[in-house]
Amino acid sequence: MNQYDVTVIGSGPGGYVAAIRCAQLGLKTALIEKYDTLGGTCLNVGCIPSKALLDSSEHYHNAHSVFQEHGIDLNDLRVNMPQMNDRKNGVVKANTDGIVYLMKKNKIDVLHGLGSFVDKTHIKIVPTNGGEEQQIETKNVIIATGSKPTVLPFISQDKERIITSTEALNIREVPKSFIVIGGGVIGLEMASIYARLGSEVTVIEYTDSLVPTMDGSIGKEMKRVLSKTGIKFMLGHKVTGATRAGDVVTVTATNPKGEEVKVEGDYCLVAVGRSPFTAGVNLEAAGIEMEERGRIKVDAHLQTNVPGIYAIGDVVRGAMLAHKAEEEGVFVAETIAGQKPHINYLLIPGVVYTWPEAAGVGYTEEQLKEEGRAYKTGNFPFRASGRARASGDLDGFVKVLADKTTDEILGVHMVGPRIADLIAEAVTAMEFRASAEDVARMSHAHPTYAEAMKEACLAATENRAIHM
Ligand code: FAD
Ligand code: NAD
Repeated sequence: MNQYDVTVIGSGPGGYVAAIRCAQLGLKTALIEKYDTLGGTCLNVGCIPSKALLDSSEHYHNAHSVFQEHGIDLNDLRVNMPQMNDRKNGVVKANTDGIVYLMKKNKIDVLHGLGSFVDKTHIKIVPTNGGEEQQIETKNVIIATGSKPTVLPFISQDKERIITSTEALNIREVPKSFIVIGGGVIGLEMASIYARLGSEVTVIEYTDSLVPTMDGSIGKEMKRVLSKTGIKFMLGHKVTGATRAGDVVTVTATNPKGEEVKVEGDYCLVAVGRSPFTAGVNLEAAGIEMEERGRIKVDAHLQTNVPGIYAIGDVVRGAMLAHKAEEEGVFVAETIAGQKPHINYLLIPGVVYTWPEAAGVGYTEEQLKEEGRAYKTGNFPFRASGRARASGDLDGFVKVLADKTTDEILGVHMVGPRIADLIAEAVTAMEFRASAEDVARMSHAHPTYAEAMKEACLAATENRAIHM
């Protein structure tokens, strides 16, 4: 029987990163994955394919609706969905092949099949393609089995017309009409893809704000800006059912007045969150305890109640984000190797890859109010930025929240062009506990979108913004 220092179950961004860091630290490592390709949700049916389609649909939208303003005329423009999907599949393959290369480079044994506990130190691997079952012995285990789309118990999803994000990333036509249940991150990204390609898109959201977990200013601006691309938003609507008759899906919801409303479409995407996934892992055989809502219970070291067994990523508490899973993978590998790593969960940024993009890190204004903390605000709108005027990206803002007394930056929230990358400046500043004035006094190249961060910090520092 093969023996390992560490066995990782699941090859998503949590699992494969944990495996690489374990190998770097000299630990003999195995990685178990039930699917043929590595990379988990993120690379196969999440972050990467969604961003590929967001980029393709943005090109089409710009060619269709923006190029003319720049003095570029195009005729006979049309969408070739099979080609767009083939390109997306190629992007996914290049990324998942990259993980295979990284596993070989780091001498990690990849075992394909369903991994399950026999006991605390033995794992069984049953190949899903009918190959031979094997067992390994291991000193430590990292469970990184991820998540799956949450289902609404009163909606039966046929995965053809009433679908999850996985199918929504693989539609081979431009739907005439596309309904999205849930105005969260997946809802807005998918709504953007199909609205840009020409579908009539309706987003039905239960709360009275889009992306309700982010700073309230983001949801408001996203509603205003994305409405311009034709997306219809029904906020404060509780979906009560969805049924399919032929190629027509009918969604019923209760509006804020308590009346029943109906929306019809070609497709209905259910995007109401994701749930931790542990089916088939046989956690009971190792005596692993769970917490509420199907998550694995872990302590401050991400260790379960069983010494030597850890859990990371979507299957444990916290935001369901690829970069959060990656940080936790590194954290656990270093913990197993005897180091004392640290994760600052407050500074894990959240990004929505619509256009304009939305991003936030640190405390939201709502959280600061609730905590009764004295804070000040600096705002800078992109319409006052020379770079944004040149590109025509005038929507959005940078909002900086700083402690009223010490000026330490407590939160940064943005909507705007390329701010998925700009949020890294806020993370860096906050990791070094910078004050708003610290950032305001740093030179930012001109003209750049990043100048909006400097200006918002100036605005938070005695209202000293220069270009506003
Ligand atoms: P996963 O990536 O879910 O990987 C778990 C792996 O474990 C899977 O490959 C699964 O097959 C395997 N597995 C499960 N059980 C077993 C078993 N018993 N034996 C063997 N293998 C098993 N996050 C971002 O940060 N940025 C984004 O832009 C982003 N976009 C997204 C877009 C969509 C449409 C979706 C659905 C998600 C997106 N996410 C994004 C979220 C991100 O994909 C997840 O947070 C991330 O993949 C979690 O990583 P993980 O390693 O915990 O689990
Ligand atoms: P989410 O939690 O972001 O949004 C779900 C939305 O559905 C919420 O706004 C909720 O109020 C709404 N909702 C719930 N029940 C409803 C009902 N009956 N009727 C109407 N609305 C209802 O979840 P998601 O968008 O499904 O995304 C799942 C996870 O994947 C998230 O945790 C997210 O972090 C991750 N993800 C991240 C990215 C990214 O980082 N760019 C992209 C996609 C997904």
